[in-house]
Amino acid sequence: MFSTDQMERYSRQILLREVGGVGQKRLLDACVLVLGAGAMGSLALLYLAGAGVGSIRLVDDGVVDGARLALEPLHDAAHIGHAKALSARDGLLARYPDISIEAVVEQATPEQIGSLMDGVDLLLDCVGTPLSRRLAAAAGWGCNAAVWSGGVSGDVGWVVGTNGAAAAPCLNCHESALGAAFKEAGQAEIDWAARAVLSPMVPGQVGSMLAMEALRRLLGLGGETGQVGGVLFRAGAVDFRPIEARKRPGCPICSEAP
Ligand SMILES: [Zn+2]
Repeated sequence: MFSTDQMERYSRQILLREVGGVGQKRLLDACVLVLGAGAMGSLALLYLAGAGVGSIRLVDDGVVDGARLALEPLHDAAHIGHAKALSARDGLLARYPDISIEAVVEQATPEQIGSLMDGVDLLLDCVGTPLSRRLAAAAGWGCNAAVWSGGVSGDVGWVVGTNGAAAAPCLNCHESALGAAFKEAGQAEIDWAARAVLSPMVPGQVGSMLAMEALRRLLGLGGETGQVGGVLFRAGAVDFRPIEARKRPGCPICSEAP
């Protein structure tokens, strides 16, 4: 069932009752679409691949920037100036040569997101802008797939997600709950243009949380009800709080049947 290399690599995980051989096989058979191979994407991709997710489709139209290497640990100095998607693919395959990586050197758009979702079990938005979150929301709603999105601002990070069920709020519905949680954490409005971040830990933490959400979904941990909502944290204050979204009447994405 597993190769010798796979048994060695995943043995600690297979020992877990919640995973076992069946769960590990499920991960190896899964395909995850990841938007963004930057700061959040680096950790999400490394952890998805390290956990044994067998197929990863990653989308990024950027170029590896030497000034961002500390923020984006999946890339290295040898790849400065290379397409980030291809650099990420090289970095993952150097560590885990038996997984399947499809690198797409494009910016995800509403026009091709449908084809990018083809054969995908779930989507992680590691770009972290309102635009990418809405794109992920529409993509997941269109094919009834789970989608999770992360974001950072200063020392604050968050993940929000939904399980793709018609009765659940879509990612777009999470917008006001995210803003409310941000204010409850003692912050002002989210400044989407702000470049300041407690780096690289906050985006790294968000990336690892997104990978964990993907694993929970793929392994069926936490049940369906545990797979909608989100978490916002302030790293500087060790403050974690839930984001509890409700389905918004008239939401342009999920108020009609998918
Ligand atoms: Zn909605």
